[in-house]
Amino acid sequence: MPTTRLIPAFKLMRSAAAYWRGSEKNPQLQRIYGTAWASRDDLKAHLTFLEEAEKRDHRRLGTELDLFSFPDEIGSGLAVFHPKGGIIRRVMEDYSRKQHEAANYEFVYSPHLTKAILFEKSGHLDWYSEGMYPPMDLDTEYDADGQVKRQGAQYYMKPMNCPFHNLIYSARGRSYRELPLRLFEFGTVYRYEKSGVVHGLTRARGFTQDDAHIYCTREQMAEELDRLLTFVLDLLRDYGLDDFYLELSTRNPQKSIGSDEVWEEATEVLRSVAENQGLELVMDPEGAAFYGPKISVQTRDAIGRSWQMSTIQVDFNLPERFDLEYQAADGSRQRPVMIHRALFGSIERFFAVLLEHYAGAFPPWLAPVQVVGIPIADEHVPYLDEVAAQLRAAGIRVEVDSSNDRMQKKIRNAQKQKVPYMLIAGDEDAAKGAVSFRFRDGTQDNGIAIEEAIARVVDAVDRRIQV
Ligand SMILES: [Zn+2]
Repeated sequence: MPTTRLIPAFKLMRSAAAYWRGSEKNPQLQRIYGTAWASRDDLKAHLTFLEEAEKRDHRRLGTELDLFSFPDEIGSGLAVFHPKGGIIRRVMEDYSRKQHEAANYEFVYSPHLTKAILFEKSGHLDWYSEGMYPPMDLDTEYDADGQVKRQGAQYYMKPMNCPFHNLIYSARGRSYRELPLRLFEFGTVYRYEKSGVVHGLTRARGFTQDDAHIYCTREQMAEELDRLLTFVLDLLRDYGLDDFYLELSTRNPQKSIGSDEVWEEATEVLRSVAENQGLELVMDPEGAAFYGPKISVQTRDAIGRSWQMSTIQVDFNLPERFDLEYQAADGSRQRPVMIHRALFGSIERFFAVLLEHYAGAFPPWLAPVQVVGIPIADEHVPYLDEVAAQLRAAGIRVEVDSSNDRMQKKIRNAQKQKVPYMLIAGDEDAAKGAVSFRFRDGTQDNGIAIEEAIARVVDAVDRRIQV
């Protein structure tokens, strides 16, 4: 481009020092970053988008709302959840547990550590060791000269839960009557991510997957995948995400195992269950892992960004490696099909996506504090305490702001904390046995009888609606 005059709209974003051809021996240069657009309006829209994304950055909101942190003493990519973040996380998990229970999942638990042999068997050490933490050498005994007296074993932090679930499956003989068998775990895994790619809760080094492995017969596969995809999308919708498209990753013939026939069957099944949902389907040719095809659910958030959420993956490899079997109706031994499925992906990542999607203003059912009582003057505190006690008895998370701040300051504080309901009370409300609602957008609803006010809040929480 001979001159920037040919670009209808552009803006320089930042500059940085760089060495010619990346070598420190060469002269230093200035690198200038900019963004170019076909029109001024497009440029403006893009800058607004960046500003909005910056305001929604979950790392920033995590600090502002006191939800979680990454203390240096713990290490990069390893989060702690503070009490308010803990409430959101617990509510997310509780609801997910309840839905999984209703859909006939069985809950299992497995340790964070395992001997190397498990990941040799699963193949992870062959093809995933770069993503794993280095091994710990345990139980090796040394004599006085420092010579090995007894060889111990190497242990790894788990990067995935699948091998553990396979051991649960194969702990005893299985009959076709037990299938589909759906094992579910909030399984905490550890993956070694290079420090340059670690990013808040969305790319962490330790996180908890809402992981399930489903074992079924080949004949059950189509129905099971169809049910599964519906379950996944419904649950994501319950959390307030509703703009989806699906991606289907297909076989790379150079890098895969299993017969053509089985791949074709599984891919066709995935395609048809994806099409049944009536959502846009994007192909990802040859993008599947070596062990089977995959559907991933992509979600667009409130400002139009796409996030990969759930993945549903058919696996022909692990059942072989773990020699998984079931006894069929005719008495013969058969290999089950295994389906891997993480719905949120990880709880941490999903937490971050929801935090950015809602810009911290969670719907009441997820909000850590659902109601703040704000007295017009100090003498109205006992009255609001009484209202709060009734709300608490109805299961609502409520606080009364009895600090020395003035009322306007209390309202500002509650707004900053993005509390969905402020209940304000003064003389008039107290005399009538009422409260006044104030919402996050500043609108008010005055003189609502206490009983009705409680019913309104409880109803919004029960229906998981945004207010
Ligand atoms: Zn898995």
